[in-house]
Amino acid sequence: MGSVVVEQLTKDFSGVTVLQNINLNIQEGEFFALLGPSGCGKTTTMRCIAGFEKPTKGVIKIGDKNLNGLAPNERNCGMVFQSYALFPHMNVFDNVAYSLNIKRLKESNIFRKIGVYTRMINSKLAKYPKDIEKKVMDILEYVELTDHAKKLTSALSGGQQQRVALARALVMEPEVLLMDEPLSNLDQKLRHTMRNTIRQIQQDLKITTIFVTHDQEEAMSMADRVAVMKDGEILQIGTPTDLYSNPKSPFIADFVGTSNIIPGKVIDQENGLSVVQIGNQTVKSVATADKQEVQVIIRPENINVLNENSMEYDNSFDGEILFSTYLGSTVRYDIKVGDYTLTADTTYESGNHILKSGASVKLGVSPERVLLI
Ligand code: ATP
Repeated sequence: MGSVVVEQLTKDFSGVTVLQNINLNIQEGEFFALLGPSGCGKTTTMRCIAGFEKPTKGVIKIGDKNLNGLAPNERNCGMVFQSYALFPHMNVFDNVAYSLNIKRLKESNIFRKIGVYTRMINSKLAKYPKDIEKKVMDILEYVELTDHAKKLTSALSGGQQQRVALARALVMEPEVLLMDEPLSNLDQKLRHTMRNTIRQIQQDLKITTIFVTHDQEEAMSMADRVAVMKDGEILQIGTPTDLYSNPKSPFIADFVGTSNIIPGKVIDQENGLSVVQIGNQTVKSVATADKQEVQVIIRPENINVLNENSMEYDNSFDGEILFSTYLGSTVRYDIKVGDYTLTADTTYESGNHILKSGASVKLGVSPERVLLI
């Protein structure tokens, strides 16, 4: 399996720059996600790696092999698309066998002798040899589609079609698997199941995988590392926990999870804590910062709604419940604190009392949980 290196990748379309100096260093066997809002350049980055787009500038390598100038089929990348891109008139087996068979025909020079490729596929010469049959059946068993081998792909569910697409990519034993929003067409429940399936397959095969998504939960739950993109640039690369606990900008704090983001100003240092003015209140943070304007970032689960038994916090505020949203295992409160509305997530246990709109509450936040950007 190959590592993937992208250096200074820039892509212009008709003079408009859509990718600007993208640098990636993806390890062998890593599951790497490109995450960002629609139009930020995720697919274009992927298409440059796959060879469907020619970079305006930059170098792309798999291992030591420079891919510049190589056609898509010379790159040893498997590709899975959101739309599955299967042949609807072929059955599952034929879809998966297709590329293996074309490769065999090319290698055996049959193309040159007979010429017309479509006639070849239908002719007796295109019947599958035993090794291809075995390989296809093995991979179909692996993605649990053996019983569907003879069905037309158009007769399958979305999740089954996506597993055919995965099998078709994997059967070629690519060095790198590229997946472009592969779960976007599936319903919520199936998406969760397919996340686990894909992650399991990736871990079993240890195949270097690049996964494009605009869904932060998907990226965070599946990938070893995530690159967050915006407007054709990479803003931050890190493990999911890095990105969540140390976002480098308010955009990332908000895109990767939910966050309270409040403008403030560092006014003092007190016992090793930065004191930040927000509106007519102050909040203390362990983050060191000069006296300057900052954005105060507090994750909703780090705002504690206190009761008489709660511990004392260095930061405590009075608030008023605006809305409460019951989410099963948690309750999300929108709380008015001074001029700001904060979101707090609390664990819900059966029998708990859910606070009503208008209720007065005391909130506590630990300085360790207050980030300053
Ligand atoms: P989405 O999540 O919506 O698929 P994305 O992050 O994958 O978005 P891209 O599809 O890479 O974004 O597009 C990045 C930018 O490049 C967009 O502004 C898009 O309009 C532009 N773009 C992409 N392909 C072309 C093309 N062939 N010609 C001109 N502009 C293009």
